[in-house]
Order: sequence, then C-alpha cells, then structure tokens
Amino acid sequence: MDITKVWMEEGCIACGACELACPEVFRIEDIAYVNEGVNYLEYTDQIVEAAEGCPVEVIKYSE
Ligand code: SF4
Repeated sequence: MDITKVWMEEGCIACGACELACPEVFRIEDIAYVNEGVNYLEYTDQIVEAAEGCPVEVIKYSE
C-alpha cells in the first residue's frame, strides 16, 4: 500500500507510542498530531506500525 493520507481521530491518550514508532510523522504535544508536509510514502511501514500499536486505535491512513 502507498500511504498518502494520515490522520488522527479523537481519543488519543498521549501515550507517546506513535512518536516513538515514527517521529518524522507523529509528534506529541498535549495529544498526538500528524506532521504536515511529510512524504508519507517514505514511512509506510512505520505508519502502519504506529497505527497497529496505538492502544486506542485512533491513527488512520489511506492510499
Ligand atoms: S499511539 Fe495513539 S494514543 Fe498513543 S500518542 Fe499516538 S495516537 Fe495517541
């Protein structure tokens, strides 16, 4: 899959796991945010890993 969109639904508990998995795409402030202007294609595996590792399953992506 070629990921071109990444977004966050409501419910992040700011655990930090996504930023650890892929700091180029995810950053934690009060909650997690998706960085804009990133070529997500370069981080497909890490984005999938982050989404699967999110304990509340709020990380979404699509082609
Ligand atoms: S892994 Fe999920 S709950 Fe944890 S900081 Fe990232 S989006 Fe929030």
